[in-house]
Amino acid sequence: MLNIVMFGAPGSGKGTQSEVLIKTYGLFHISTGDVLRDNIKRGTSLGKTAQEFINKGQLIPDELMVDILASVVDDNKEAAKNGVIFDGFPRTIPQAEALETMLEARGTKVSGVIGLDVPEEILIGRLLNRGKESGRSDDNLETITSRLEVYNNQTSPLKDFYAEKGLLHMVKGTGGAEVVFERVKKVIEAIR
Ligand code: AMP
Repeated sequence: MLNIVMFGAPGSGKGTQSEVLIKTYGLFHISTGDVLRDNIKRGTSLGKTAQEFINKGQLIPDELMVDILASVVDDNKEAAKNGVIFDGFPRTIPQAEALETMLEARGTKVSGVIGLDVPEEILIGRLLNRGKESGRSDDNLETITSRLEVYNNQTSPLKDFYAEKGLLHMVKGTGGAEVVFERVKKVIEAIR
Protein backbone atom coordinates (compact mmCIF):
# COMPACT_ATOMS: atom_id res chain seq x y z
CA MET A 1 0.00 0.00 0.00
CA LEU A 2 1.12 3.51 -0.79
CA ASN A 3 0.00 5.81 2.04
CA ILE A 4 0.90 9.43 1.44
CA VAL A 5 0.37 12.35 3.78
CA MET A 6 -0.11 15.62 1.88
CA PHE A 7 1.19 18.24 4.21
CA GLY A 8 1.16 22.03 4.00
CA ALA A 9 -0.48 25.25 5.10
CA PRO A 10 -4.04 26.16 4.10
CA GLY A 11 -3.94 27.15 0.42
CA SER A 12 -0.72 25.25 -0.29
CA GLY A 13 -2.44 23.06 -2.89
CA LYS A 14 -2.94 19.81 -0.93
CA GLY A 15 -6.43 19.23 -2.35
CA THR A 16 -5.45 20.06 -5.94
CA GLN A 17 -2.41 17.77 -5.87
CA SER A 18 -4.36 14.99 -4.13
CA GLU A 19 -7.00 14.99 -6.90
CA VAL A 20 -4.36 14.36 -9.56
CA LEU A 21 -2.52 11.80 -7.43
CA ILE A 22 -5.56 9.62 -6.82
CA LYS A 23 -6.19 9.43 -10.57
CA THR A 24 -2.56 8.70 -11.42
CA TYR A 25 -1.95 6.05 -8.75
CA GLY A 26 -5.43 4.66 -7.99
CA LEU A 27 -5.35 5.78 -4.38
CA PHE A 28 -8.20 6.67 -2.04
CA HIS A 29 -8.48 10.34 -1.09
CA ILE A 30 -9.37 11.27 2.48
CA SER A 31 -9.76 15.01 3.00
CA THR A 32 -10.81 15.58 6.60
CA GLY A 33 -11.93 19.12 5.66
CA ASP A 34 -14.26 17.64 2.99
CA VAL A 35 -15.62 15.07 5.47
CA LEU A 36 -16.43 17.88 7.93
CA ARG A 37 -17.98 20.14 5.26
CA ASP A 38 -20.14 17.23 4.10
CA ASN A 39 -21.39 16.77 7.68
CA ILE A 40 -22.14 20.50 7.92
CA LYS A 41 -24.12 20.32 4.67
CA ARG A 42 -26.12 17.35 5.94
CA GLY A 43 -26.74 19.05 9.30
CA THR A 44 -25.38 16.14 11.39
CA SER A 45 -24.42 16.69 15.02
CA LEU A 46 -20.74 16.32 14.04
CA GLY A 47 -21.36 19.03 11.42
CA LYS A 48 -22.78 21.37 14.05
CA THR A 49 -19.77 20.92 16.32
CA ALA A 50 -17.34 21.22 13.39
CA GLN A 51 -18.92 24.44 12.08
CA GLU A 52 -18.06 26.35 15.24
CA PHE A 53 -14.38 25.41 15.09
CA ILE A 54 -14.10 25.91 11.33
CA ASN A 55 -15.65 29.38 11.44
CA LYS A 56 -13.11 30.45 14.05
CA GLY A 57 -10.26 28.94 12.04
CA GLN A 58 -9.52 26.53 14.87
CA LEU A 59 -8.86 22.80 14.82
CA ILE A 60 -11.50 20.23 15.73
CA PRO A 61 -10.32 18.40 18.91
CA ASP A 62 -7.89 15.55 18.26
CA GLU A 63 -9.97 12.76 19.81
CA LEU A 64 -12.95 13.56 17.63
CA MET A 65 -10.81 13.88 14.50
CA VAL A 66 -9.04 10.57 15.14
CA ASP A 67 -12.37 8.74 15.54
CA ILE A 68 -13.67 10.28 12.32
CA LEU A 69 -10.56 9.26 10.41
CA ALA A 70 -10.65 5.68 11.71
CA SER A 71 -14.26 5.27 10.64
CA VAL A 72 -13.59 6.67 7.14
CA VAL A 73 -10.63 4.28 6.74
CA ASP A 74 -12.65 1.28 7.94
CA ASP A 75 -15.69 2.15 5.81
CA ASN A 76 -13.58 2.29 2.65
CA LYS A 77 -11.28 -0.73 2.93
CA GLU A 78 -11.92 -1.92 -0.61
CA ALA A 79 -11.49 1.53 -2.22
CA ALA A 80 -8.36 2.09 -0.15
CA LYS A 81 -6.70 -1.23 -0.96
CA ASN A 82 -3.90 0.38 -3.03
CA GLY A 83 -3.33 3.09 -0.47
CA VAL A 84 -4.59 6.40 0.82
CA ILE A 85 -3.79 10.08 0.35
CA PHE A 86 -4.31 11.78 3.69
CA ASP A 87 -5.16 15.41 2.89
CA GLY A 88 -5.43 17.72 5.90
CA PHE A 89 -4.67 14.98 8.43
CA PRO A 90 -2.64 14.83 10.64
CA ARG A 91 -2.57 18.46 11.77
CA THR A 92 -1.10 17.93 15.25
CA ILE A 93 1.52 15.64 16.78
CA PRO A 94 -1.13 13.59 18.69
CA GLN A 95 -2.99 13.07 15.38
CA ALA A 96 0.24 11.91 13.73
CA GLU A 97 0.88 9.46 16.57
CA ALA A 98 -2.69 8.19 16.34
CA LEU A 99 -2.30 7.71 12.58
CA GLU A 100 0.82 5.61 13.15
CA THR A 101 -1.01 3.40 15.65
CA MET A 102 -4.07 3.14 13.42
CA LEU A 103 -2.09 2.10 10.33
CA GLU A 104 0.09 -0.29 12.32
CA ALA A 105 -3.02 -2.03 13.65
CA ARG A 106 -4.13 -2.48 10.04
CA GLY A 107 -0.76 -3.87 8.96
CA THR A 108 0.46 -0.82 7.05
CA LYS A 109 2.26 2.50 7.55
CA VAL A 110 2.88 6.00 6.18
CA SER A 111 5.03 5.59 3.05
CA GLY A 112 5.98 9.25 2.81
CA VAL A 113 4.97 12.80 3.59
CA ILE A 114 4.90 15.40 0.85
CA GLY A 115 5.17 18.92 2.22
CA LEU A 116 4.10 21.73 -0.09
CA ASP A 117 6.17 24.83 0.52
CA VAL A 118 4.42 28.11 -0.35
CA PRO A 119 5.22 31.63 0.97
CA GLU A 120 2.57 33.11 3.26
CA GLU A 121 1.67 36.07 1.01
CA ILE A 122 0.88 33.66 -1.84
CA LEU A 123 -1.23 31.48 0.50
CA ILE A 124 -3.33 34.46 1.54
CA GLY A 125 -3.89 35.53 -2.07
CA ARG A 126 -4.93 31.99 -3.10
CA LEU A 127 -7.34 31.59 -0.15
CA LEU A 128 -8.99 34.98 -0.75
CA ASN A 129 -9.45 34.03 -4.39
CA ARG A 130 -10.91 30.64 -3.48
CA GLY A 131 -13.28 32.38 -1.08
CA LYS A 132 -14.59 34.52 -3.94
CA GLU A 133 -14.98 31.55 -6.29
CA SER A 134 -16.25 28.80 -3.97
CA GLY A 135 -17.89 30.82 -1.22
CA ARG A 136 -16.13 28.72 1.44
CA SER A 137 -17.10 30.35 4.72
CA ASP A 138 -13.62 30.10 6.25
CA ASP A 139 -11.85 31.76 3.28
CA ASN A 140 -12.15 35.33 4.61
CA LEU A 141 -9.22 37.40 5.86
CA GLU A 142 -10.01 37.12 9.57
CA THR A 143 -10.41 33.32 9.54
CA ILE A 144 -7.47 32.90 7.15
CA THR A 145 -5.25 34.79 9.61
CA SER A 146 -6.17 32.48 12.49
CA ARG A 147 -5.84 29.36 10.30
CA LEU A 148 -2.30 30.39 9.38
CA GLU A 149 -1.48 31.03 13.03
CA VAL A 150 -2.87 27.60 13.98
CA TYR A 151 -0.81 26.07 11.17
CA ASN A 152 2.39 27.75 12.37
CA ASN A 153 1.84 26.82 16.02
CA GLN A 154 0.18 23.40 15.92
CA THR A 155 0.78 21.85 12.51
CA SER A 156 4.23 22.92 11.33
CA PRO A 157 5.97 21.00 14.21
CA LEU A 158 4.98 17.89 12.22
CA LYS A 159 7.78 18.75 9.79
CA ASP A 160 10.39 17.83 12.42
CA PHE A 161 8.31 14.85 13.56
CA TYR A 162 8.35 13.34 10.06
CA ALA A 163 11.85 14.55 9.13
CA GLU A 164 13.26 12.63 12.11
CA LYS A 165 11.60 9.49 10.77
CA GLY A 166 13.11 10.12 7.33
CA LEU A 167 9.64 10.43 5.80
CA LEU A 168 9.45 14.15 4.92
CA HIS A 169 9.86 15.31 1.31
CA MET A 170 9.49 19.05 0.86
CA VAL A 171 8.38 20.24 -2.58
CA LYS A 172 8.19 23.80 -3.90
CA GLY A 173 4.46 24.48 -4.15
CA THR A 174 4.54 27.47 -6.52
CA GLY A 175 4.73 27.81 -10.30
CA GLY A 176 1.36 26.31 -11.31
CA ALA A 177 -0.45 23.08 -10.42
CA GLU A 178 1.03 21.06 -13.29
CA VAL A 179 4.61 22.06 -12.54
CA VAL A 180 4.07 21.25 -8.86
CA PHE A 181 2.59 17.87 -9.80
CA GLU A 182 5.74 16.97 -11.76
CA ARG A 183 7.76 17.63 -8.58
CA VAL A 184 5.32 15.59 -6.47
CA LYS A 185 5.43 12.71 -8.96
CA LYS A 186 9.22 12.54 -8.75
CA VAL A 187 8.96 12.05 -4.98
CA ILE A 188 6.27 9.38 -5.33
CA GLU A 189 8.29 7.49 -7.94
CA ALA A 190 11.25 7.48 -5.55
CA ILE A 191 9.31 6.07 -2.60
CA ARG A 192 6.86 3.63 -4.17
P1 AMP B 1 -9.24 22.06 5.20
O1 AMP B 1 -10.32 21.84 4.21
O2 AMP B 1 -8.26 20.91 5.30
O3 AMP B 1 -8.54 23.38 5.01
O4 AMP B 1 -9.95 22.11 6.64
C1 AMP B 1 -10.90 23.12 6.95
C2 AMP B 1 -11.09 23.18 8.46
O5 AMP B 1 -11.57 21.92 8.95
C3 AMP B 1 -9.83 23.47 9.27
O6 AMP B 1 -9.55 24.85 9.37
C4 AMP B 1 -10.21 22.86 10.63
O7 AMP B 1 -11.08 23.71 11.34
C5 AMP B 1 -11.00 21.62 10.21
N1 AMP B 1 -10.12 20.44 10.07
C6 AMP B 1 -9.84 19.76 8.91
N2 AMP B 1 -9.00 18.74 9.14
C7 AMP B 1 -8.71 18.77 10.46
C8 AMP B 1 -7.87 17.99 11.31
N3 AMP B 1 -7.13 16.98 10.85
N4 AMP B 1 -7.84 18.32 12.64
C9 AMP B 1 -8.56 19.33 13.14
N5 AMP B 1 -9.36 20.11 12.39
C10 AMP B 1 -9.44 19.85 11.06
